[in-house]
Amino acid sequence: MIDWFAESSLDRVAEQRGDPDWVRAAWSETDAVVLRVGELSVEVTADAALLVRPTAGAYDPDVHYLLGRIDGRWWFGARDGDDAGLVLLRSVMDQLPATELEVAFTAMGLAAWHAGARFCPVCGAATEAVRGGQARRCTRCGTDQFPRTDPAVIVAIVDPAGRLLLGRGPVWPAGRYSVFAGFVEMGESLEQAVHREMAEEVGLPLTGVTYLGSQPWPFPRSLMVGFLAHAPAAEPVPAEGEIESARWFTVDELRAAMASGEVVLPPHTSIARRMVEAWLDGTLPTDDPHARSRLT
Ligand SMILES: [Zn+2]
Repeated sequence: MIDWFAESSLDRVAEQRGDPDWVRAAWSETDAVVLRVGELSVEVTADAALLVRPTAGAYDPDVHYLLGRIDGRWWFGARDGDDAGLVLLRSVMDQLPATELEVAFTAMGLAAWHAGARFCPVCGAATEAVRGGQARRCTRCGTDQFPRTDPAVIVAIVDPAGRLLLGRGPVWPAGRYSVFAGFVEMGESLEQAVHREMAEEVGLPLTGVTYLGSQPWPFPRSLMVGFLAHAPAAEPVPAEGEIESARWFTVDELRAAMASGEVVLPPHTSIARRMVEAWLDGTLPTDDPHARSRLT
């Protein structure tokens, strides 16, 4: 499990990567490795570790993206347009070692961004990858674009009795229940997005919105920002077409529903799962939020 609160194990070498000769030299290091990625997919070994290969052939800045250095070794991601042999990252991510999952998230998110940023948003001309894949530059007007990540809030809502509200979307796998999430809109604070999204999705007023932690979620390019919020013990009003069902659970009710297969939680590597597990374990901080220090 990755500790998303700690320093990353991936050194992204921001200072050196602007020098194309330096990036080429990193590609040519004897122990440099490359990970093939596709649309939401990666290459893995038979025992579900990332399959990495020694870098070989010429460095192509439009295909090979420098991810960074781990324990002295350079890692690159490659999107070569051939998705043969790749598997969906979602299907293997619970089995990957923490460092490999972080690398896979970075490579896949970066490749997805490049695929959608081939033309300049200012003048429409073609762009080319620069800075080892950490930017694209317009070949006509020189405007730089940088990889984008979309913030989304994800919210564990508890009532005064300590029950947790879970819901499911209409196209989710059978039995899947989770906490609620939605994208941040332009001009909103994260906390405002929590209030708006939860009013839209379950029709409940919230108090005591507090930050829990965050996690990248490159499907294709989100950053999930987790919050705890308090709501009255009222019946939720699910948003039509968006939320198929929303239910309050006690710890015992959820454990029983999980044991019977009635409820299937999200993958272990997701912040959603960790939020629910923390609530089940009693480690989610559910104390009076107004007593907690916060920015003003
Ligand atoms: Zn341009």
